Amino acid sequence: MKEIILIKNGELALKGLNRSNFENTLIKNIKCRLSGLGETEIKKSQSTIYIEPESEDYDFEEALKRVGQIFGIAAFSRACVCEKSMKDILSRSVEYLSTVAENIKTFKVEAKRADKRFPLTSPEICSQTGAALLKSYPHLTVDVHNPDCVVYVEIRDFAAYIRAGQLKGAGGLPVGTAGKASVLISGGIDSPVAAWTMAKRGLKLNAIHFASPPYTSPRAELKVRSLLKKVAAYSGTISLAVVPFTEIQDEIGRKCPEDYFTLIMRRMMMRISERIARASGSLALITGESLGQVASQTLPALVTTDSVVAMPVLRPLIGMDKEEIISLSRRIDTFETSVLPYEDCCTVFTPRHPKTRPTLDSCANAEKELDIDTLIENAVNKTEYSYID
Ligand code: ATP
Ligand code: MG
Repeated sequence: MKEIILIKNGELALKGLNRSNFENTLIKNIKCRLSGLGETEIKKSQSTIYIEPESEDYDFEEALKRVGQIFGIAAFSRACVCEKSMKDILSRSVEYLSTVAENIKTFKVEAKRADKRFPLTSPEICSQTGAALLKSYPHLTVDVHNPDCVVYVEIRDFAAYIRAGQLKGAGGLPVGTAGKASVLISGGIDSPVAAWTMAKRGLKLNAIHFASPPYTSPRAELKVRSLLKKVAAYSGTISLAVVPFTEIQDEIGRKCPEDYFTLIMRRMMMRISERIARASGSLALITGESLGQVASQTLPALVTTDSVVAMPVLRPLIGMDKEEIISLSRRIDTFETSVLPYEDCCTVFTPRHPKTRPTLDSCANAEKELDIDTLIENAVNKTEYSYID
């Protein structure tokens, strides 16, 4: 019995975007994300995307799992392919629904005849299929108002398809349709969630991580890589820039007042990130900041970090409580990795009394001894790039 995955136009989050651009990007993303699972044909017809495994050993369950993580799909279905004859439709629907039938008490059949040459009408297809299911599974009854399962029979141009219910997709917009942005990623709970949230709205992600060896260990960088891998299961490939930050932190430690350490570190991160982001074609930065969560995330503090860059800073978690962020991080499976106890460069240099009401002038004054341009130049030149997928 041949099974395929169906994604219908009504199940795409079209949202007024240019429809064919949207669909073509989605199909490209699907092809990328299913590569490596075996031979498969992916085609579009009559506002439906068909994903048809072609090799015997195709990992269908893994394909379903991956399709469930592709942004731009609100819902999708697994379906059984049959010949366009009632005989085949009836025997296949009984066979295909054997497992489903064990777990339900009521059902109804809905039929759609996109191929009008098929000799039976939709009500006739419904009643014959319903009768065959009732005969084979005597514990079932038909409930047209509130069935445990809706069985769909569709006569389409290539073949007939039977499916039971549908699966929830990841929603959002296809990655790439909203352009590109660079996420500042630490090993914490928040930034991977911020990355995922913006990829969901169609942004292709680049990631930037600041590492401060020997204050931070190679394991901290590995942690960031495994977090990005989890995000990439949804967003597709992410390019990662690892920026050496030790020299800058040492300079800040030597030349700036302690209560400004975190703020100046954050300002340096933003400046460097903007340089790297522009070079990679990103139009915005993304951070995992949430208003008031820590001293460097008060509104005056955010004003001072925003002021050093000339590109928008997207902060999708700004209005979320930690509990809400944690629940999202569990959902996307980054939480367990995020809470592994490896140090971040921000935690290494935490001041005892961080400034919570800085002003632009007081920040500029606190960092006046730094040779900012040279520090940025050195860090950008020593940045290392790789890909995560
Ligand atoms: P997170 O859980 O994302 O680490 P946080 O609550 O610990 O966030 P901060 O450490 O103040 O908050 O960092 C705020 C934001 O700055 C992070 O969400 C992230 O976007 C960025 N950031 C912090 N440290 C780094 C780093 N080492 N490299 C890149 N970006 C960082
Ligand atoms: Mg952090």
